[in-house]
Amino acid sequence: MKTDIIGKYLLFIPVLIFSIGNSFPQQFTIPPELFSRAERTWYEETSLNSDVASFCKTAGSMSKYAHTEVFGKTKEGNDLIMVVLANPEISTPEEAISSGKPVIYIQGNIHAGEVEGKEASLQLIREICFGPKTKLIDNQILIFCPNFNPDGNDKLSATSRPSQDGSPALTGARVNGEGYDLNREGIKLEAIESKAFMKNIIHKWDPDLLIDLHTDNGSWHGYTINYAPAYKTVGHDIITDYVQDKILPEATKSMNERSGIPVWFFGNLTQKTGESPVYSTYSHMPRYIVNYMGLRNRMGILIETFSHEKFEKRVLSNYLFLVSLLEYTNSHAGEINEITRSADSETVRLISEFGGKMEKGVKYKIAEAEKTIQLLMRETEEYQTVDGRTRIKATGKLYIADNIRYFDHFLPVKSAVVPFGYVFPGTLSNVAEKLKEHAIKVSILDIRHPIEAEEYLIESFNRDSRAIYGGHYPVRVEGRFIRKKLTAEKGYYYVDMRQPLAWLIFYMLEPESDDGLLYWNFFDNYLENRGIEKGPVPYPVLKLMKPIDSMLKSL
Ligand SMILES: [Zn+2]
Repeated sequence: MKTDIIGKYLLFIPVLIFSIGNSFPQQFTIPPELFSRAERTWYEETSLNSDVASFCKTAGSMSKYAHTEVFGKTKEGNDLIMVVLANPEISTPEEAISSGKPVIYIQGNIHAGEVEGKEASLQLIREICFGPKTKLIDNQILIFCPNFNPDGNDKLSATSRPSQDGSPALTGARVNGEGYDLNREGIKLEAIESKAFMKNIIHKWDPDLLIDLHTDNGSWHGYTINYAPAYKTVGHDIITDYVQDKILPEATKSMNERSGIPVWFFGNLTQKTGESPVYSTYSHMPRYIVNYMGLRNRMGILIETFSHEKFEKRVLSNYLFLVSLLEYTNSHAGEINEITRSADSETVRLISEFGGKMEKGVKYKIAEAEKTIQLLMRETEEYQTVDGRTRIKATGKLYIADNIRYFDHFLPVKSAVVPFGYVFPGTLSNVAEKLKEHAIKVSILDIRHPIEAEEYLIESFNRDSRAIYGGHYPVRVEGRFIRKKLTAEKGYYYVDMRQPLAWLIFYMLEPESDDGLLYWNFFDNYLENRGIEKGPVPYPVLKLMKPIDSMLKSL
């Protein structure tokens, strides 16, 4: 009822728009489709798929800056919708390249119970299209996908976010229509949405920065937004350093100046009896899409909204922090372009110069910061629910806790030599196809090649008995590398590491990688057929210790 009244009322709201280069305001009526369901229901409900679709289509048809496109279809037949915002308007990746502007991709609702990013994205799209935030596309191209998990979005339930403040009453499901958690897909890329994202966003538009919008389950710290960069593993340091030391602190400062809403780095707070509290971040693994971006020499920012706040404040915080981030990126667009491009060329240079000589980590562990931190905290108290359960709620008071131990980065616990390239038998087409899905260049040897290689002998093969993320049984191996002169046969796949995606290739193909293709079962059949259950078997991916072309010349 309330919705209808508000919807009709909005039809007649005149909004003052200041057009660029014109000091006289124009009157413009924003149609009801350009107000989110959250806004129209006083934040009692979240936007349905149909709301997001009509919002994005209306923005695309009415705004001179917006191009709306369907970039995929889900298992349940829902559209994956993106809105490209640029001034002047563009509709193709070629136009983005020739504009020379960086591309920023903002994704909401990957977990469809975590709806704040979706709502904030819609509001921000409207205000970029029709003012007052049009200036955010002066120097950059923004691509919004407000609803990355539409199959989860409309499966509304009161229990999908149990630890959240009671608003909105109903939210969507975490997983997609196939049952995948879309934020564990960075390496294996199995879900329909992930494949569409890779093909139509990453390959085509090659975003310099990805912003992934989530809602946390809620340690009782005092921040409304937490964030994290793509954590450093093998990828190029300048990417993470820039996000961690420049973008995030500057956006935090401007968020504080504009709103006073406290925001800080992501962490979970734990305390064992008799010990001081510990604040530690989540994971370095590239299965998480933000970390994955780092392996592509691209920037990533994870945003987690504090779930115990009221819904309206959660959306507002997302909106304001997005504005703070995008103001920074807009005013440093040239710098961002330069950093990602130089990470690409530097990667190729490093491999060409130090291939076969340098080592990088393949397994990591979380590590403690040198100093303890002060953390803004919420005071909490226990209360009894009507069914007699004990729960915790905030009293409203904030305080500062001292001497918190802080685990904020990752260090390698196992390293391996970074080779000039990898070769593996032509029977492993599943591996070659997966590499190609990531836009990695893979070729096929047309003649036999002598090679100087490292072969890994798998001496211990352990497969978990419990399935994770779409029926995978994680594999961990132990063994040793043996340097040999071997022959790569005609028809073998060849992956030259002297390409910008070298760090991703390394993480995917190293046998002891903690998130590589061996871990995700891509070699199970091959190894079982060769008796891995009974004894040691050589891992079929050989590491080239000299460039393959130089070996050929020596024939
Ligand atoms: Zn999430």
